[in-house]
Amino acid sequence: MAGHVRSRRYVLHDFAIGTRHRGVAFVDSGVRDILRAHPPAPAPYYPTDTFVIRRAGDKGLGMFTTSALRVGAIALIEHPTVIAPFVLGLTDTPACDFYDDLFGSLPMRQYEMLMGLANCMPRTSVGHAEGVMATNALAIELDVPATGSNQELSTHRAIFMQASRINHSCSPNAKWEWDRKTLSLTLRAVRPIRAGEEITINYVDPAVPRAERRASLRTTYHFDCNCAACARGDPRSDIARTELRAFGSGLPAFDVWCRDARMPDMVLIRAHERALALIETEGLEVLGCREHIDVITMCYGALADENMFRYWANESREERAQDNMGDLKVVQTWISNPRALPVWGWRRDTIQARRRSSRSPK
Ligand SMILES: [Zn+2]
Repeated sequence: MAGHVRSRRYVLHDFAIGTRHRGVAFVDSGVRDILRAHPPAPAPYYPTDTFVIRRAGDKGLGMFTTSALRVGAIALIEHPTVIAPFVLGLTDTPACDFYDDLFGSLPMRQYEMLMGLANCMPRTSVGHAEGVMATNALAIELDVPATGSNQELSTHRAIFMQASRINHSCSPNAKWEWDRKTLSLTLRAVRPIRAGEEITINYVDPAVPRAERRASLRTTYHFDCNCAACARGDPRSDIARTELRAFGSGLPAFDVWCRDARMPDMVLIRAHERALALIETEGLEVLGCREHIDVITMCYGALADENMFRYWANESREERAQDNMGDLKVVQTWISNPRALPVWGWRRDTIQARRRSSRSPK
């Protein structure tokens, strides 16, 4: 245990979010006071009927779409039912008793649902409630200052009645985001998902090689991953993921490329196109395509290539439309009037100036 995690006084805290959601937290007494003083607001809306929970082969239960989801579509918004510290401080109470008390304080229906969640921990080493927590909890951040001897207090673990059913894939088709103001998780598709397809997220970093991913999953979650990427076991996949993980090292910064006419015109564009191709091949949209698309768009703008700029700016707009990014309108403006792009023609001007100077009499 980290040296800075001091002795804690943990207390049970029943929390409500709006009129419909109830949960229970086992938290440091100071964290409880903060949660009480700033009760979370309910999420703005809750999608309905986007998924069902059913058997997912030898993985136990899983989450499956009821209809196709487009990229960026929200499959689920959910508040946690159980919150516990990510790292337990020093106490006299054994960890298994913490979790038994925590689960036991829930109404019977929720208690039974929780106890029915998967437990992949070795039965002899931990109690059932503790095993369910270790198997199903997602790491969340609370709006608690993490300072000095309280470093560990902002990070917690939470169990969600629905989201905790989502299985892992090393090429996940969805990602989840946490909003600490509404204490809610939002689950979004990162690529198109067919009707009836299983929704998956990544429990470990998907950009590391297969053996490393599988070792982490075995150590932490006690299962052997047989997702499509692991089952194929193609050595080219490890090379691609390693390349994506290291992406950017050795590439010139955009403004340096704009000013340096000796660099090839297409150096950044080709590098980011390659990253997008690797992401597609590996099913790693979860790593994000936006940065690559934005750089390509800017490069074509700096080259004053209007056709290609419009094509990629449209891609950029599509990316933003998926989750209503605030800068969507700005991109729309650039599509209608490319010359409004602040870096429009920057590199073209550099190249033209260089040509002029090389032509001028010595
Ligand atoms: Zn896998």
